[in-house]
Amino acid sequence: MVYAHPGQPGCPVRFRPQYENFVGGKWVPPVEGRYLDDVSPVDGRVFTRVPRSSLADVELAVTAAHDALPVWSSTSPVERARLLLRIADRLESDMERLAVAESWENGKPIREALSADLPLAVDHFRYFASVLRAQEGSLSQLDPDTVAYHFHEPIGVVAQIIPWNFPLLLAAWKLAPALAAGNCAVLKPAEQTPASVLLFIELIADLLPDGVVNVVNGLGPETGRPLALHPRIAKIAFTGETGTGQEIMRYAAENVVPVTLELGGKSPNVFLPDVFADDDEFADKAVEGFVMFALNQGEVCTCPSRALVHESIWDEFLDRALERTRSLVLGDPLDPATMVGAQASAEQLQKILSYLEIGRGEGADLLTGGEQRSVPGLEGGYYVEPTIFAGRNDMRIFQEEIFGPVVSVTSFSDVDDAVRIANDSRYGLGAGVWTRDGTAAYRMARAIQAGRVWVNCYHAYPAHAAFGGYKQSGFGRETHLDTLRHYQQTKSVLVSY
Ligand code: NAD
Repeated sequence: MVYAHPGQPGCPVRFRPQYENFVGGKWVPPVEGRYLDDVSPVDGRVFTRVPRSSLADVELAVTAAHDALPVWSSTSPVERARLLLRIADRLESDMERLAVAESWENGKPIREALSADLPLAVDHFRYFASVLRAQEGSLSQLDPDTVAYHFHEPIGVVAQIIPWNFPLLLAAWKLAPALAAGNCAVLKPAEQTPASVLLFIELIADLLPDGVVNVVNGLGPETGRPLALHPRIAKIAFTGETGTGQEIMRYAAENVVPVTLELGGKSPNVFLPDVFADDDEFADKAVEGFVMFALNQGEVCTCPSRALVHESIWDEFLDRALERTRSLVLGDPLDPATMVGAQASAEQLQKILSYLEIGRGEGADLLTGGEQRSVPGLEGGYYVEPTIFAGRNDMRIFQEEIFGPVVSVTSFSDVDDAVRIANDSRYGLGAGVWTRDGTAAYRMARAIQAGRVWVNCYHAYPAHAAFGGYKQSGFGRETHLDTLRHYQQTKSVLVSY
């Protein structure tokens, strides 16, 4: 059954006509009174509006976070863990409504929002509630009369800036470890997808002590920039494009604050000859791994957007991959049968269409897809066919992040050749390796320059596995205990007895 769209009878979500910033526990209009339209990519229509904030709004949010910091940073881990668990429970109890909101605002298929984005966000809060309780300081004996105590202290007020591809999940990735570590946060959602984050904040507002979490909405240069440059911010956590990440690093340098950057990718997905050896189930699984390029319409930082197929299985692999890609159901994101929904914005749609032209222009073979699609009844929406190009790794469609349902396929001759091609990229975020040969899998997983390598699986994001980039995909880690440390200072106290 297709979920009713917002505004239609029976829809679980009712967006307000207008949202405000969340500052010091209250909903606060923007100081300059300006707002931005929020457009659904499902039908291309405006469905609500949010503040277009300026420095003055950032100032209010940073001040509110500082006001809350002395109390929050001195709460016990037990209290903070209890809050995170209550947030997780609230989120879990309202998953369907939030999934519909997320799908409507971002264009992602409801089946993915319900099965991945929301459950992962819930688990993220639970995970950091658990690891927080298990984290202990340490004590070293320096000499018979001197000991060093090590304490993990909160950093302070942190700026968190997120993109539009996984609005709720990335808000959870940012907020859970920051709060667990005892920091207060000022979060800036992407201007394309603020509403689902605001619904989430609305849902948990009464659980949060005033000022511990603040949300300012607006455009990158007008809101994100003054936030990241604010002299009272103690850390910047950023997820977005590599170009913006370079700017963020410059801002961080102004105030000498730590920064973690989760940036773009062009992830290789490598298929060794034995995927078609004799095990049909494994071959099917590998082909499913290939079509993961269309998950979330390809708007995933780890999208397996470069497929490297061994030359000996090239024809058979592509036959099966093409058949499976053509069977992906594109349509209304709120239809549970839909596998490929709408691209998140008109701008993103245009970017993808331009790369379809670039691919054709540089002589890549267009094997399937390659066109914009119109969905009946949703003609204003932003839909693109899942597309496969075959070509060479030096082409732009192999080197540049398209962030759409487009995969560029090339062949390789042996494991060393595959590693060479995989590493011939400025990015190093994710990678996939498909083989039953354990030695080859191990060698490749170690040799590929990427922060996350999936072997015989892809697109799994459990809270307890570290995630982050090599090279221009950024640095620092999210998810995993490592992240807690990114939100803490370590103090050593040396005592001579
Ligand atoms: P973007 O860099 O354009 O924007 C991200 C956020 O930064 C938005 O909130 C935006 O308003 C803000 N911003 C833009 N300019 C700014 C500035 N000058 N100062 C401060 N803030 C500014 O990225 P996007 O288009 O929203 O997202 C897509 C990108 O995000 C892709 O490159 C994708 O790979 C990347 N991404 C990375 C990860 C990861 O974990 N590595 C996860 C998701 C998305």
